[in-house]
Amino acid sequence: MDYLLKNCDFVLTWINDEPKVLRNVDIAISDGLITGVGTITMGGFEKIDCSGHVVIPGLVNAHTHTPMSLLRGFYDDAELMTWLNKMWSVERELTRDVIALGSELSIIEMIMSGTTAFIDMYHYPDVTADVALKYGLRAALGSTFIDTLRKPSCVENELRNFVSTYGKSQLVRPLINVHSIYAVSRDTLLRARDLSNELDLPIQVHVSETRDEVYESKRRYGMFQWST
Ligand SMILES: [Zn+2]
Repeated sequence: MDYLLKNCDFVLTWINDEPKVLRNVDIAISDGLITGVGTITMGGFEKIDCSGHVVIPGLVNAHTHTPMSLLRGFYDDAELMTWLNKMWSVERELTRDVIALGSELSIIEMIMSGTTAFIDMYHYPDVTADVALKYGLRAALGSTFIDTLRKPSCVENELRNFVSTYGKSQLVRPLINVHSIYAVSRDTLLRARDLSNELDLPIQVHVSETRDEVYESKRRYGMFQWST
């Protein structure tokens, strides 16, 4: 589909590595690529009136748990570990259908705020990946190591399947999620590192979120932070 964004009041862009603001221009888009910026009069496009609007590059949500939009307000204002234990007890029960609904809500909200890419951590990443593809968002996500909920061998098998299914996708980028150093064993951390090297995937992990975690890390590993 070809689109023509007409009469954009402001366009925030980069020209020759410099930020630039353009005023009152049209933007032509063909097959998903910007093919013209300026005063464009040629036909054949579906026109979208952008007067009164600002056009910017898509925003990136650098860390989220999309299905958790369904748990907003469910158990607020608790200390992290108390809160997590409560969440995990609920999340054990979430089905793929429920996770799809939560991801869809979050993705619609992201689109409404101009976000076009996100990095996710949750169970059933294939479900969220399919919703992202349905709406045309970029998503980096993958299976999550969390020994308190799932066997590491099951997570690894799921991850390998996820990579073989989505590894060549233009919009979905597989990664390895490790929930945190307190939710997995040292063996699982090393397994994630080895998988990262073998499959050439980045790792996403929560670190140093609380003072307790920092000192527990020092007690268990002799270091304040995880280092491979
Ligand atoms: Zn998080």
